[in-house]
Amino acid sequence: MRRALIAGNWKMYKTISAGVALAREIADGTKPGGPEVVVFPPATALAAVSQAVKGTPVAVGGQNVHFAREGAFTGEVSPLMLKDAGCTHVLLGHSERRHVFGEDDELIARKTRAAVDGGLVPVVCVGETLPEREGRRTLEVVERQVERALRPLSADEVGRLAIAYEPVWAIGTGQVATPEQAQEVHAFIRRHVAGSHGDPVGGAVRILYGGSVKPDNIAGLMALEDVDGVLVGGASLEAGSFLKIVRGRG
Ligand code: PEP
Repeated sequence: MRRALIAGNWKMYKTISAGVALAREIADGTKPGGPEVVVFPPATALAAVSQAVKGTPVAVGGQNVHFAREGAFTGEVSPLMLKDAGCTHVLLGHSERRHVFGEDDELIARKTRAAVDGGLVPVVCVGETLPEREGRRTLEVVERQVERALRPLSADEVGRLAIAYEPVWAIGTGQVATPEQAQEVHAFIRRHVAGSHGDPVGGAVRILYGGSVKPDNIAGLMALEDVDGVLVGGASLEAGSFLKIVRGRG
């Protein structure tokens, strides 16, 4: 049985004080025994938000990480530093990292390896662009992204991470994937992981959907066999809408 995971990506929103206030509201509304809840604040707010949710069911993750432990990498943050700030998770390969900042599959694979080595749980994001979907290349693109990111990892390590399927055309657009589109890709990813790392790992790995998730579409998404949770952008910036998603209904 896979425990549901509801993740909130705050992107480049929220000052420290606003982030702490939001995290406290989310923690107050999150009961133990429900889905696992993780928020991904901007780097400046990580330590304060981690402190604010200490002892609650809410966990904290970074939105990105460098592959080195430390070094002359101006502007970067290492796995050690995320742990030091109280993080347990990290987002990797988000479409904005891939398409705005030019991160490729090899870099994301190095970061995934480093995150696992640093004791963090990676949430590896994959997904096709609109031209790729229209060109019927969705499964090929997603397979390549998953294969490259997971290649350096053992079966045990893959079993503990999460994969987020986020069609690029659905992120921040209000255009959510249909249940058929989401289920097709999720089942495909699970089969791929079963093939690459073994059936038990395919059965255990959590696959989240991301892309315009809102309180009014969460129930339909969570009802899908291979959807184990969601990665939420815009609707995670306000406690009321995020908590409705955590509770699984609008
Ligand atoms: C995201 O940033 O990962 C995301 C899915 O954003 P939104 O929910 O706003 O589409």
